[in-house]
Amino acid sequence: MVAGLSLNTVTVKEKWGLADCIEGCARHAIPGISPWRDVLQAMGVTAAARHIRDAGLTVTGLCRGGMFPAPDAAGRAAALDDNRRAIDEAHRLGAACLVMVCGGLPPGSRDLPGARAMVRDGLAAILPEALAAGVTLALEPLHPMTCADRSVLSTIAQALDLCDDLGPGLGVALDCYHVWWDPEVAAQIERAGKSGAGTRIAAFHACDWLVPTTDLVFDRGMPGDGVIDIAGLRAMVDAAGYAGFTEVELLSRRWWAEDPDHVLATILARHKAS
Ligand code: ZN
Repeated sequence: MVAGLSLNTVTVKEKWGLADCIEGCARHAIPGISPWRDVLQAMGVTAAARHIRDAGLTVTGLCRGGMFPAPDAAGRAAALDDNRRAIDEAHRLGAACLVMVCGGLPPGSRDLPGARAMVRDGLAAILPEALAAGVTLALEPLHPMTCADRSVLSTIAQALDLCDDLGPGLGVALDCYHVWWDPEVAAQIERAGKSGAGTRIAAFHACDWLVPTTDLVFDRGMPGDGVIDIAGLRAMVDAAGYAGFTEVELLSRRWWAEDPDHVLATILARHKAS
């Protein structure tokens, strides 16, 4: 069975706004969409929610919340306020989850355990609002190459430990690009499925690791062009009880330069072949 497919809007961000993405998904019969907050806010949340609903699309996630660590209390409070706005936006969109990119070290800091504590404290602070809004906070472990500037949360095990620690309302967003290398990937995906409250897996993001990779942020590969066993990872999350969409999320200067209709047609063809 081919799982449902979703388009993460960053995939075509250089040429399409959110309205174009919604129409593009409808035109290509892609049933899911996952907006980033910049294009969402550019369109307006109310208008976007209505257009997405009218197009019959499922919102598989909103990208993104997080970025908790900051050098001082005022910075950390500002981050919490921004996360509260993100929770409200996810709620108004009916998003399946709010994807959390938790943040790196505060500028100038060498205190990695301290930054991890800020992430935990930040999540604990906003969790009541997320629960009240019915929005799952999907912790996305990022490849450790991003530990300094984007995410001190690097592994599925770390994310699941936070889920266990903080309780209901949290899940994990598994992005092939970020987790494929992890020697524990199979065991931790299995662990994610064994939560008493059902699977912890709230999202599954697909793109590929190119060899050679020429840029650590903007050279992600189209599924099928690299070395990640995406179908194998998808089978693992299926076995762990995740029945949701496969969301294609490409940050790629190569694909940003292409005609977005060609990008969507390629994504669809690769998805059907997987
Ligand atoms: Zn992702």
